[in-house]
Amino acid sequence: GVRPLIAGNWKMHGTLAAARELAAGVAAAPAGTAELLVCPPFLHLLPVAKALGGAVALGAQDCHAAAKGAHTGDVSAPMLADAGARYVILGHSERRADHGESDAVVLAKAEAVLAAGLVPVVCVGESEAQRVSGEAEGVVAAQLAGSLPEGFAAAGGVVAYEPVWAIGTGRTPTEADIAAMHARIRAELQGRFGEAGGKLRILYGGSVKPGNAKAILALPHVDGALVGGASLVAADFLAIADAA
Ligand code: 13P
Repeated sequence: GVRPLIAGNWKMHGTLAAARELAAGVAAAPAGTAELLVCPPFLHLLPVAKALGGAVALGAQDCHAAAKGAHTGDVSAPMLADAGARYVILGHSERRADHGESDAVVLAKAEAVLAAGLVPVVCVGESEAQRVSGEAEGVVAAQLAGSLPEGFAAAGGVVAYEPVWAIGTGRTPTEADIAAMHARIRAELQGRFGEAGGKLRILYGGSVKPGNAKAILALPHVDGALVGGASLVAADFLAIADAA
């Protein structure tokens, strides 16, 4: 199978000093089965790159769809590549909620990430109301259709399934529900990209902790995790990585 990816989304947390210390703690771990990725806030990318020293991959949490231009306050994919990033998280539910990002916006950003030679980590996931009404798989399939660019598979793109209601809540879907959704995502990827779609990594995200990581990561088509809160403590993040 593919090498699992354990990704930390640090969101909007921490000082520079804390970011450096966390990065150093992650980088100090012996190489294991999983590829490790940390995604600090833009402002912390450069010092974290330095503290990581190359053993752990660096990613950003967003980018603009244009390569450059008059876009005050934004950061482009080529800038992220220049700073040492290899991955860019796109379409996180918090960006969809806070900044009104649609699938079309995520698609345009993903095109920019591919053009810069970086790997998009495209987030999808249903709300609690959509889960309760039985729409979850259809919602996720539509998000995938609308937000994955043509070159996604060739670039080794990553999909992160994050049920919105499981983020930061301590709640997770049942193992059966995670497995069913990941199987559906795999089928969508293979339908769209053929054989290459069978090799892309599909991450689960939403209240992944050291205590539940082993069971979740053992499920079929779960090729890693996108970790929020638990990625802010090096020991917890590394315990999750050890479970992969
Ligand atoms: P938590 O792990 O804090 O639930 O966050 C998940 C997430 O949103 C990662 O992108």
